[in-house]
Amino acid sequence: MDHFTYRHGQLHAEDVAIADIAGAVGTPVYIYSRATLERHYQVFSRAFTGLDPLICYAVKANANIAVIHTLASLGAGADVVSGGELRSALAAGVPGDRIVFSGIGKTEDEMAMALQAGVCQVNVESVPELEALSDVASRLGRVASTAIRVNPDVDANTHAKITTGRRENKFGIEWTAAHAVCAAAAALPGIELCGIACHIGSQLTGLEPFRQAFLRLRDLVLMLRADGHHIRTLDLGGGLGIPYGDEVEPVPHPDAYAGIVRETVGRLGCRLILEPGRLLVGNAGVLVTRVLYVKEGATRTFVIVDAAMNDLIRPALYGAFHAIVPATEPAGDAEPRLVDVVGPICESGDTFARDRPLPPVGAGDLLVFRTAGAYAAVMASTYNARPLVAETMVNGARFAVVRDRGTIDDLLVRQHVPTWT
Ligand SMILES: *Cc1c(COP(=O)(O)O)cnc(C)c1O
Repeated sequence: MDHFTYRHGQLHAEDVAIADIAGAVGTPVYIYSRATLERHYQVFSRAFTGLDPLICYAVKANANIAVIHTLASLGAGADVVSGGELRSALAAGVPGDRIVFSGIGKTEDEMAMALQAGVCQVNVESVPELEALSDVASRLGRVASTAIRVNPDVDANTHAKITTGRRENKFGIEWTAAHAVCAAAAALPGIELCGIACHIGSQLTGLEPFRQAFLRLRDLVLMLRADGHHIRTLDLGGGLGIPYGDEVEPVPHPDAYAGIVRETVGRLGCRLILEPGRLLVGNAGVLVTRVLYVKEGATRTFVIVDAAMNDLIRPALYGAFHAIVPATEPAGDAEPRLVDVVGPICESGDTFARDRPLPPVGAGDLLVFRTAGAYAAVMASTYNARPLVAETMVNGARFAVVRDRGTIDDLLVRQHVPTWT
């Protein structure tokens, strides 16, 4: 459930008409709903009542500090994958001891930043990385609380670009090698082996892969404990899918996901860490764009909008589906037409939808891409010298710009023509 609904014929974000935000801030513009963020966080956290997990919002889904701050104020920690995300989480008010640092390619500078911020856990994905972390920690006179990310080799049944838990993926320590790597970790002076982690992919729409992965984690924890390791945390990653509107079967509810967690790893006595990203923010955001032209091609009709693949890359990158609705509610008897919705960029990949039934639209109309809160604004680029778009947040009847629209000067000021050209 979200808070984007038609009222008096106009799509609203909570109590604010989307057209009012577009009028004030321009287009394209991202709009996040605070009430939706809160609702998603509550539904997710209530599902785990009694287990007392640490819910670390996966910042890479949407790194806007107003979004992180909103979730932190509800009790969330953060899962970060770069020095920049670490700084963002700290700037948004997440305490260091509620931050998990993940990622397969941490630099030594990032490791030092993480240790100095007092993160609760660093998740490590290779033996060379373990050695580097031990060195950095020793140099700083610290010991790094470290979890080993294992690759449980399960098929998440999701898009190939966002599956991460197969043996052939670059992530984690091979399931069969985990035992030996944990022994090596425990012997390093700068490392305190505190736990095991996994993350098998994103936008999972079935629960069985989670069950298989968590059962493997359980076996591993028991085996490591038998070896004398004190395993106190178990990080289950994120990945639970959300409805985008093109699913054939309903996506599992967080309660069902929590049921799997309880059944498989609920009684190990480990502090559970959960890293939901998309689930918390996906349906809490939309991207609003304005129709520039409607072009009647030889065989198709193109609706050319002012947003492009640089602003929202998911359709081009993953073939992802986003529901598209007009800001003005169509008349009940409006006959939909099949159109292609495309951006202005000089690539055929800059296509948001093909053969999509849309009510009649014309130049100047506002269209809204739904479910654009996750992996959307964070993936924006300035391709075609298009400045980054503005982001806004609504809270009841108020809204605020939470990221200023970029300017062309921003782009030019960082470039230099050497005198010798
Ligand atoms: C991407 C990622 C997440 C979040 O995944 P979602 O599908 O957005 O829930 C969590 N943990 C790690 C390590 C990740 O890389």
